Amino acid sequence: MAKPRVLTPRTEDFPRWYQDLIAKAELADNGPVRGTMVIRPYGYGLWERMQREMDDRIKETGAQNAYFPLLIPQSYLTREADHVEGFAPELAVVTHGGGKELEEPAVVRPTSEMVVNASFAKWVQSYRDLPLLINQWANVVRWELRPRLFLRTTEFLWQEGHTAHATYEEARDFAARIHRHVYADFMENVLAMDVLLGRKTRKERFAGAINTLTLEGMMGDGKALQMGTSHELGQNFAKAFNTRYLSKGGTEELVWQTSWGSTTRMIGALVMMHGDDNGLRVPPRLAATQVVVLAVKDDEAVLHKVREIGDVLKKAGIRVHVDDRTDTPFGRRAVDWELKGVPVRVEVGPRDLENGTGMLARRIPGGKTPVALEALVKVLPKILDEDQALLLAQSRERRQLRTTDVATVAEALEATSTGGWARIPWATLGEAGEDELAGHGVSVRCLLTPEGAVPDADDAAGNVAVVARAY
Ligand code: AMP
Repeated sequence: MAKPRVLTPRTEDFPRWYQDLIAKAELADNGPVRGTMVIRPYGYGLWERMQREMDDRIKETGAQNAYFPLLIPQSYLTREADHVEGFAPELAVVTHGGGKELEEPAVVRPTSEMVVNASFAKWVQSYRDLPLLINQWANVVRWELRPRLFLRTTEFLWQEGHTAHATYEEARDFAARIHRHVYADFMENVLAMDVLLGRKTRKERFAGAINTLTLEGMMGDGKALQMGTSHELGQNFAKAFNTRYLSKGGTEELVWQTSWGSTTRMIGALVMMHGDDNGLRVPPRLAATQVVVLAVKDDEAVLHKVREIGDVLKKAGIRVHVDDRTDTPFGRRAVDWELKGVPVRVEVGPRDLENGTGMLARRIPGGKTPVALEALVKVLPKILDEDQALLLAQSRERRQLRTTDVATVAEALEATSTGGWARIPWATLGEAGEDELAGHGVSVRCLLTPEGAVPDADDAAGNVAVVARAY
């Protein structure tokens, strides 16, 4: 018997599949105001695991968490010309409070460079106060015209880092450290996602930055998604807020700054990078539930056994959930766990028990095999490691297979039209070529050196542009 179809197949309609999956795996719903999102417990659980893993890595750099206000005086936004120009179209502005029109409207933060700098200007006195390394976990609002659940919502959750340093070099190195040792490390080793690390072109830079480092992922349909960014802000915001420090030599100097952000968009990436026609596939290191042990039937011995297995696995450090809701048909529950992408299911029924075995269903490579229940503690950690590695390998292979080297703009358009990335020498493309591509909905995702590393400058000799359609 053919398996009943749970989701619209990806090849039939990728965007519809994405929406179906988010609804059926109970990740999120649309909020009442267009572009807003209700994150359901299973989706929020993914975010909490992401937060924990990221937070550990952020703190390893020496950064500390703090909290800044949601509302920012409108006048702050106008202090840095590029910043206000970039964000003006996306702002939500509060004009009334307590039933009265406000003397000065307040902006709902689209990002916090401005309000953070107002504090930094007070906190930084001398070189001894530097570097100042702050991170905030918060929500921000950007009035998005084409919202899509997780990928681009009007309100989203994120972490935003803000740092101040004594020298240009220190700030540059810190932005690079976040890019590689926080973001790339997390995405590759926890999310099992292949990401390309590069530099944004001048046109794609963050509003107010002198350099933006990006991580680009290839989704299941070959489109690109910007997974996170780390910016060198130079002294632009320091000038706007007069954030100065007394140097060792006794002179007043402006600080050098960075900012960096990653958001709930990563949940959308998880769906589009690892999901298949049966649902989500959650990498074991991220999964809040790595193994679910299911009682197939309402049977005393079975229920006893699944609970016992649950205890043993938990003691062994495996994140395990015991599904003993036998009032719901087993098939429904199995489909549900499959949709939610829990890496491993162990199914135990009365007949299995007699032989001391259960069925082991692996979500990531797929397939079911009998397993000796006694052996679970030993085999599961190995399986989880294998599956973690497999997801990363699959995403890496997809990008390699679907990236083409091209020599002209026309070829780049051709290569990206069917869901793929193209690599083209930046000297050939240039800003004029970048504009031409933009007219066809294709953008430069990032610049790389000929060896595939992150270039020091946009126009460094041999730079290669990676171009694609993007979410
Ligand atoms: P930015 O502060 O503009 O560099 O944004 C930081 C990161 O947030 C980007 O790299 C995106 O991955 C993500 N992002 C930007 N806009 C949205 C949005 N509307 N919803 C979710 N994530 C977003």
